[in-house]
Parts: sequence; C-alpha cells; structure tokens
Amino acid sequence: MLKVKPEIPRSDAIVVGSGPNGLAAAIRLAQAGLKVVVLEAAETPGGGVRSAELTLPGFTHDICSSVFPMGYCSPFLSTLRLEQHGLQWVFPPVAAAHPFDDGTAALLHKSLEQTAAGLGSDGSGYEALFGNLVAHGEKLFAAALAPIRALKSPLLMAGFGLRAMRSVRMIAHAYFKTEKARGMFAGIGGHAMLPLEKLTSAASALILATAAHAAGWPFARGGSQNLTRALISILKSLGGEVMTEWPVTSLDELPESRVVLLDVTPRQFLKIAGGRTPASYRRKLEKFRYGMGSFKIDWALSQPVPWKAPECRLAGTVHLGGSLDEISESERRAWRGEVSDRPYILFVQPSLFDSTRAPAGRHTAWGYCHVPNGYTGDMVGKIEQQVERYAPGFRECVLARSVMGPKELELHNPNLIGGDIGAGAVTLGQLITRPTASLYRTPLKGVYLCSASTPPAPGVHGMCGYFAAEMALREVR
Ligand SMILES: Cc1cc2nc3c(=O)[nH]c(=O)nc-3n(C[C@H](O)[C@H](O)[C@H](O)COP(=O)(O)OP(=O)(O)OC[C@H]3O[C@@H](n4cnc5c(N)ncnc54)[C@H](O)[C@@H]3O)c2cc1C
Repeated sequence: MLKVKPEIPRSDAIVVGSGPNGLAAAIRLAQAGLKVVVLEAAETPGGGVRSAELTLPGFTHDICSSVFPMGYCSPFLSTLRLEQHGLQWVFPPVAAAHPFDDGTAALLHKSLEQTAAGLGSDGSGYEALFGNLVAHGEKLFAAALAPIRALKSPLLMAGFGLRAMRSVRMIAHAYFKTEKARGMFAGIGGHAMLPLEKLTSAASALILATAAHAAGWPFARGGSQNLTRALISILKSLGGEVMTEWPVTSLDELPESRVVLLDVTPRQFLKIAGGRTPASYRRKLEKFRYGMGSFKIDWALSQPVPWKAPECRLAGTVHLGGSLDEISESERRAWRGEVSDRPYILFVQPSLFDSTRAPAGRHTAWGYCHVPNGYTGDMVGKIEQQVERYAPGFRECVLARSVMGPKELELHNPNLIGGDIGAGAVTLGQLITRPTASLYRTPLKGVYLCSASTPPAPGVHGMCGYFAAEMALREVR
C-alpha cells in the first residue's frame, strides 16, 4: 500500500537527508534561530552513522561508519557538547595496528614518541613527518577541515599542504626506509580511496595519523547510532525536528521555506532539481567523478579475532595488506576497474573495547575492501582469506556474517553511488572544486548542497554541513 507522506510543518529551512552533514547543517541553522525540518528517506535517521543487529540478536553492528577521529576533532561537532546528549566516546588504547606476515605489527599509538619508537630506524623520519602537525593539531583540523579558499593558519597549512599534495608513495619513500614504516603509512593512506601514487592521496593519512596522536580514533559506545541520537537531541533542543520515511523526489514537493539544504550527491541533486537546473551547471555535475566502491562484511564472532600479532587486540582498527607495494597494487586495481586477489582490508573490532556490542564473550567486527564502482562480484572469500593470513583460525570464529557489496550499500543509502562511500572521488580537482567551483551554492535561489560531495571531504565530521549552513545564513541575511 502506498504510504501517505505526513505534512511538513511550516519552517524556515528544510534539510533533505539526515547524515552527519545534514544534521550538522540543521543544527547550525537552528542555532541561528531558524525553524528547521530534516526530511530523511530511510526508516532510521543518520545516513552513514547508524547501527543495527545485522547478524544475530544481541550483536550491534555499525552499518557504515564506526571510527570517528574526525568526528571527535571536528571544529564544529566538538563545540556541541555531544556527551551531554548521551554520547560516550570509547578510545581503544591503540588507534590502529598494521600486522605483517612475520607475526609482528606496527602500532599507531596516541603517543607520537611511542609510535616512532616502534618503527626502529624509521622513528626519526616519523617524528620529522608528524612532529609539527601534532604540535599544532587543533589549528590543523580547523584549517584542513574547511574549504581550501577559507584557509586559516597559512604557514602551518603551507607546511601541511606541501606534504598533503603529494602521494602516499612519495611521502613513504621520502621519510621511511623500512618496509614496516612504509607499509604502516600505506595502510593509513588507504583510507583515501585513491591509488597511492595519486597526488593528494597522502592528505588523509597525514590528517588521520595526526588525529590519532592528538586525540585517538574513538567509537561511539553502544554503536554509531548513538552519535546520530546525540545530534538529533541537540537539534530538538533547538526546536528542530527530523521526519523519517520522507524521500524527496523533487524540489516541487517541498513547501515554501527560506532555504533548502540537500545532503545528497550531485547525481541525486540533478534528479531532485529536475528541469530547474541550468544546462551549464548540469553539465558540470554530470562530470563529477564517483570513486571506487566498497565491499563490506560484518561478522558476529564467537571470540576475539585470533591475531598472530597479539598486540593487534589493543587496536580498534587493523589495516590488513602488508607492504606499501601490495596495498598500492590493491588500490590501483580497484581504481582501474579490477579486483585484487589480496585486497587491502580496513578491519574494525569495536566490541573489544565496548562490551555493549555483543553478548558476553562474543564479539563483532567488520572489514571492507575497495572494489570497482558498481562491482557485482563476490569478495567474501578474498576478504576472509586476508583476515586468515594475519589471524589463522578466524573463519572458525564466525557465527554469522552480513555482506554488503556496492549494490546493497547503495540500496541502504542512496548517497553511496555504486558503493562509493566517499560521495565522490577526492582527486586534486575534486578536492578544490567539490562538486563545482561554487561549492555549496547551486544556481537555484536558496538551494544548497551540504553532503560529503562538498568541501572539505568525506568522513564523519559534519563540516560540509556546517559550511553549507554558514553560506546559506550569510545569503538569507
Ligand atoms: C561502509 C562505510 C564505512 C565508513 N566508515 C567510516 C568511518 O569509520 N569513519 C568515518 O569518519 N567515515 C566513515 N564512512 C564515511 C561516512 O559515513 C560518510 O562520509 C558520511 O556519513 C557522509 O555524511 P553525509 O551527511 O554527507 O551523508 P550520509 O551519511 O550518506 O547521509 C545522507 C542521508 O541522506 C539521505 N537521503 C539521500 N537522498 C535522499 C532523498 N532524496 N530524500 C531524503 N533523504 C535522502 C540518505 O538516506 C542518508 O540518510 C564510512 C562509510 C561507509 C559507507
């Protein structure tokens, strides 16, 4: 039976989509005194920040994001007192581990010195690369999590920018000599969803490692949904509201309001705006390049992962892929439209640090690898083989699994086009003009984009929503 959409209350601002950017935009607008309504297509709010019992009763899985270094360090989210709205951050003792075939692992500790000490002869290179960035972490996040044209701290940013513009491979070779340090840097660099030889691929590794030293890589206790709950609680305290199961198919469906902010990617925007978009803007958005897809597995486990390197149990995130060359091959192949037999895996094990995630003694974990955009093949065997490589006996611990390839990811959230979890590739061009040179502003009066397809970049930090809201507020005033 066709469901009748409830009527939208009168409001000054409508936000379409309740991902972290949609909610951050809504909160900023509400802080400025606007009456805000958020319309969300899904049954549950939160976009990429949701949790559910995907496998077995009592096992809480984060359907998409779990690890929030950028959320914790976000210049906007960190002002919101999320903890007073129920959020508890959980910090694993080690942000990330990078195991090797010989049973050892490199560890990304909170302490810069401890991390450097673990890298032996490459410790001094590590300190040279990160020392200054960590010393000015707060300024760095304020500057890096902003559109490039709004740059503050020019000297610090020049130092950061010169390194961030380079590729992971260039930085790894410039600062490190050992396979271990290069491999560990490549593992962090793999978050960029770019080939590790591409310019700017180093940017996310620099930011994420700096965040590990400045704060850590925390989870939300009880599941990522609790971060969304806290954001919605803040929005409600400011008079805003969220209406779920309200998919917006056309701007014509929306009642009059002063501004509309869309937490959607360019392809969806073109559909929602229909014939209203001028041809020149339409052509620009049609050229927007989506990135690689992802293939994700969530596991319910009978016990902790039996890592060969036991220190991996201290880390919330584990990067599986070994050397720089191997990780780089995996990422290059996915970018080119192929898959790797030994894919680089981002592996996360929240229940080791948060007992609410699984029944006593049981555990949850997830892992994904990058695949070509829209890939329809099955990567379960290859992903689990990679986990087995560093944790023999892993398969025997699996009680149940939930599998999401690109198609299932996009069905779960229409912003994940072809399984692209970044809302568009973060290439040099699309870093500066994301998705066009006018950034959040569209040619339609009062209509703005606020998703991760706008600056600064993907990730759960809310800064795309914050800056979109700031632009909208300037223009309505
Ligand atoms: C598997 C996976 C793992 C990830 N892991 C991490 C991680 O650990 N840490 C991290 O920082 N980031 C991670 N990310 C990335 C992060 O989730 C995204 O960058 C972030 O959620 C983007 O926020 P957003 O608000 O721009 O969009 P989204 O979170 O994608 O939200 C968009 C929302 O808009 C809604 N919507 C879309 N179209 C319409 C419409 N027409 N009408 C109404 N509603 C609509 C969607 O249903 C959705 O709720 C991960 C992503 C995925 C998919």
